[in-house]
Amino acid sequence: MTELTRRSLLAGTAAAAALPLAGIVPTDAAAPLSGKQAPGFYRYKVGTMEVTAVTDGLTIGPLSDTYVANASKDAVNAALEAGFMARDRATQPYTPVVVNTGGKLVVIDTGLGPAMLQQSKGTAGQFQTNLAAAGIDRMAVDAVVISHFHGDHINGLIGPDGGAAYPNAEVMVPAAEYKFWMDDGNMSRAADAAKPAFQNARRVFGVVGSKVTQYDPGKDVAPGITSVSSPGHTVGHCSYIVAAGSDRVLVQVDITAGMAQLFVRNPEWQFGFDMDKQLAVQTRRKLYDMAVAEKMLVQGFHFPFPGIANIEKDGNGYRLVPIFWNPTI
Ligand SMILES: [Zn+2]
Repeated sequence: MTELTRRSLLAGTAAAAALPLAGIVPTDAAAPLSGKQAPGFYRYKVGTMEVTAVTDGLTIGPLSDTYVANASKDAVNAALEAGFMARDRATQPYTPVVVNTGGKLVVIDTGLGPAMLQQSKGTAGQFQTNLAAAGIDRMAVDAVVISHFHGDHINGLIGPDGGAAYPNAEVMVPAAEYKFWMDDGNMSRAADAAKPAFQNARRVFGVVGSKVTQYDPGKDVAPGITSVSSPGHTVGHCSYIVAAGSDRVLVQVDITAGMAQLFVRNPEWQFGFDMDKQLAVQTRRKLYDMAVAEKMLVQGFHFPFPGIANIEKDGNGYRLVPIFWNPTI
């Protein structure tokens, strides 16, 4: 067997590459750098329904000391390095999905909103731009389903002009979320650091106005989309099962709300932003065990884009197994 060294590989490549160039006069003209990413959306079928995962972009911030409440920063950094990620950094992608059920066009969560697009100089708040790039008119959206009231999920209910981004859509929210975040008593009792989230919910739903429907988990929010109770990250957090025929996808939303590579592998780790951390761990295990047992694909709001993966048991934790990019639908 031939020993394939880096040197022989490079030499071989250079020799092969030189052949077609024989007789051609080289020029110094270089193609200009693009400096721009392609619009981010990815489509797949669930039975007869079509899902489009649309990126809202990504934020990178410093890793706080309490990013994982029950693990040391050293342990978190070791896990980041083991997962080929930079130390001391929290990288957070955001991926809402659109489901075309055949009869209805449904958006699940809305991203950080166009205001963030300006504030972040284009790195986050891209959802509405990418939605248009995917050929989806926000005026044609029939329903917007909200999983919970954190800003990365609700702020995109507001459009670039400051009005409702989906003026023709019914906005559906978990009843327990609405009750919790709109309660003045809860707001006044909340820690100062948590108060802005209450104020933000009031600001956003003040713009959306009266077209808000509250739902309880277990209900179908649209034909083929069933809400699943998954509390812990917030009190009324909901996930969804999108099902058609024998095809089923768990749209988990924030079952792992931090970097998925950390919390999927270490499901007992308590994410600093989970409101009820023990309950969030229980919910994570429950839903992942279900996905493993039933071989369901999992679509994660904070997974690496496009956010769709298989999940399997791996020791005491789990492992995400990416799908192949499918060039057809
Ligand atoms: Zn989130």
